[in-house]
Amino acid sequence: MKGKLTITRSFYFDAAHSLPFHDGKCKRQHGHTYRLDVTVSSFVGSEEDVDSQLLQDGPESGMIVDFTALKQVVESWIVSRFDHGNLNNYFSSPTCEVIIIMIAERLVEPLKEKRVILEKLDLWETIAPHENKCTLTLFPPS
Ligand SMILES: [Zn+2]
Repeated sequence: MKGKLTITRSFYFDAAHSLPFHDGKCKRQHGHTYRLDVTVSSFVGSEEDVDSQLLQDGPESGMIVDFTALKQVVESWIVSRFDHGNLNNYFSSPTCEVIIIMIAERLVEPLKEKRVILEKLDLWETIAPHENKCTLTLFPPS
């Protein structure tokens, strides 16, 4: 059996932004609770490629990556920088699309160091009951 195994962890951060070019109320500064789902993968079951199998030793034995390690990467590179901040400090027009692309660029390498591939990001600009979500599927996965 060979396959690609994915795991996903959700993160939340609160941030302010305004969309200066928007033709509506989003032009005014306001805040959101953002939800970010980070999906990473590793191939499993390949006898030819030992590195792509589940980790065999230590505290991550039986995993592709420890959820705690995933949490540390995303919190240090994304959440700690954006939480309770103003996204206009990073982007001229911080739309969901612009933000998610920058998040991907920041996470690819640190996740590679954890031996997993960044597959997909989902970024909710608002959460229930009015959900606006943006998805970036990396092709090919980085
Ligand atoms: Zn907004």
